[in-house]
Amino acid sequence: MSKDKKTFTDLAKDVVEAGLCVSCGTCVAVCPVNVIELDQGLPTLVGKCIECGLCYRNCPRTDFDEDDLDRVVYGRDRTEREALTGVYRAVYAARTRSDAVRGRAQDGGVVTSILSQFIEDGGDGVVVAGLEEDKVWSPRPLVARSRDEIVGAAGTKYTVSPTMLGVRKAVKEMGLKRIAVVGTPCQMRGLARLTLGPSRNKKYSDAVALTVGLFCMETFSYDDWMSYLKEEGVDPGKVTKFEIKSGRFIAYAGEEELHKVKLGKVKRLVRPCCHVCGTSPAST
Ligand SMILES: Cc1cc2nc3c(=O)[nH]c(=O)nc-3n(C[C@H](O)[C@H](O)[C@H](O)COP(=O)(O)OP(=O)(O)OC[C@H]3O[C@@H](n4cnc5c(N)ncnc54)[C@H](O)[C@@H]3O)c2cc1C
Ligand code: SF4
Ligand code: SF4
Ligand code: SF4
Repeated sequence: MSKDKKTFTDLAKDVVEAGLCVSCGTCVAVCPVNVIELDQGLPTLVGKCIECGLCYRNCPRTDFDEDDLDRVVYGRDRTEREALTGVYRAVYAARTRSDAVRGRAQDGGVVTSILSQFIEDGGDGVVVAGLEEDKVWSPRPLVARSRDEIVGAAGTKYTVSPTMLGVRKAVKEMGLKRIAVVGTPCQMRGLARLTLGPSRNKKYSDAVALTVGLFCMETFSYDDWMSYLKEEGVDPGKVTKFEIKSGRFIAYAGEEELHKVKLGKVKRLVRPCCHVCGTSPAST
């Protein structure tokens, strides 16, 4: 092994121990000998590492150069007005015309509509964030194969769903050939490295046909978030939607507002890795 090659040991030190890990699961997805698992959201070695360095090189939290990615994807640098948004061809404000989507979606339902269209146009599957059945408001990556499943996974979960584990399942376990992926910008960075970076993986590059990056300001630590709701007398099981709007954090049960506070009050629940984010909305 070259002295300069960074391996899992370096990933653990530079990313995990440094509090930078976003729990995206890219390292798990890329490991050729499947010896990484996420334990409580953090990568752990569960077998013999062959020191290939792929986990380090594909992690979105190691030396990620967004300008390089812009050049690879769009063939140019950002203009001044694209500094915060990332490169764009056009900007649209839109909302769904489907009542079913509007009833479940977080905002205008555009994301769910685009993903549904992907399946209707012959896509094999879509990696979305569903919810655990036995753990309230705990997201998990879901490989949706139908419009109903995609609509069922609409709405924002304000804690992490390790999206790249869903990508691995879709491509490596289910053998899907044409998939779409939705996720937060940090997850899109991992996916971009995996599919477009210098150490990209051909299986993933070939399969990922559409990526949808969400605007994201923060995700909460699940345990802290649940404890907070308990302290405030909010039963998370009754909440049908959480929302961050106009500087307020709001929990709804249907139309009823169960809880509404200034965003500052819940800032302490934000995961430490989100304090050093610096991603653009889509990052790909
Ligand atoms: C963690 C998080 C924080 C956000 N913070 C803000 C904010 O502060 N301000 C703001 O304006 N917008 C924020 N957004 C974006 C906003 O909540 C909506 O996702 C966006 O406006 C799209 O709305 P929509 O109705 O088209 O989405 P929908 O049609 O409801 O589709 C949303 C899609 O996102 C997926 N998804 C939901 N949660 C996650 C997750 N945690 N990880 C990966 N995928 C997920 C769902 O599975 C679904 O496919 C945030 C999103 C996330 C995930
Ligand atoms: S084998 Fe490669 S990808 Fe897997 S843990 Fe070791 S260095 Fe990382
Ligand atoms: S690839 Fe993702 S899960 Fe793995 S160490 Fe990096 S940020 Fe954490
Ligand atoms: S704030 Fe940044 S690091 Fe945190 S979940 Fe959103 S995109 Fe990822």
